[in-house]
Amino acid sequence: MIVAVLSGKGGTGKTLVSVNLASVVEGDSIYVDCDVEEPNGHLYFRTEESDKNVETISRLYPVVDSSKCLLSQNKDACAKCVDFCRFNALARVGERVQVFDQVCHSCGGCYIVCPARAITEEARPIGHVYDYKVGNTRVLSGQMQTKQAFGIPIIAKILEMAKGSTLPTIIDCPPGSACTVMESIKDADFCIVVAEPSVFGAHNMKMVVQLLRLFEKPFAAILNKYVEGAENPSETLCEEENIEVLHRIPFDVQIAHYHSEARIAAEEEDRFKEMFESILKRITRRFGGEM
Ligand code: SF4
Ligand code: SF4
Repeated sequence: MIVAVLSGKGGTGKTLVSVNLASVVEGDSIYVDCDVEEPNGHLYFRTEESDKNVETISRLYPVVDSSKCLLSQNKDACAKCVDFCRFNALARVGERVQVFDQVCHSCGGCYIVCPARAITEEARPIGHVYDYKVGNTRVLSGQMQTKQAFGIPIIAKILEMAKGSTLPTIIDCPPGSACTVMESIKDADFCIVVAEPSVFGAHNMKMVVQLLRLFEKPFAAILNKYVEGAENPSETLCEEENIEVLHRIPFDVQIAHYHSEARIAAEEEDRFKEMFESILKRITRRFGGEM
């Protein structure tokens, strides 16, 4: 069973839930950190760098040879590549074509439509993926290089590495509801939205819920930093939107302390182990998967 853990924004407790759930799975499990912009799951599953399998991930970018481009011969001759690009990654600047790598999606379309074969594709590294094991947990994570803006190929690669395994898999998604999140949840059997008790948290949770409904994914919420009797806009949203609440994780200094020191709470105290085991049991009972 593949469980994806999401949140509307950073800092709600998504990684807290993910690493603890991966830790309390009976037997072997896979933890996948898809937050490739700011991965931090590896801090909870520490190992020597030499024990990690590392692979570089590259993308193809278009390179325009201006001497072959028809624009350089006749300014009205052609702008087919510019017209084709739906991502506005190409612009006509006088008699040449400018490429904006940061918004290019590497679809290869401009290369195909160019009648003068003036465009070639060049592979450039965009980040790395890591594969290693700590105890019973196989850890898959990725990291984008600085100055990169497109992490989907890295996410696709780490999910492909997890594919085919029958082991219970916990996916720690990027925060928010952008295309990187859509990529991260596409194979998930069940999703958990972690929400914090704030107006901002509830607002962003609502966007994630809309995304999950669009993708027709079964999901439920976990309310983190929960204080009994206190105003909780995320809980109100769950009531209004008929969202099942799997668990309310209490606002607890000790759990925050462990988490801030990159320690897995379920491995530190039995009460936290029992709490995350009960969440896992609820998921498996409710949705019939195996963990
Ligand atoms: S590869 Fe695709 S996204 Fe990139 S510039 Fe060409 S058409 Fe645009
Ligand atoms: S499609 Fe080819 S020839 Fe036309 S503007 Fe683009 S690079 Fe130049």
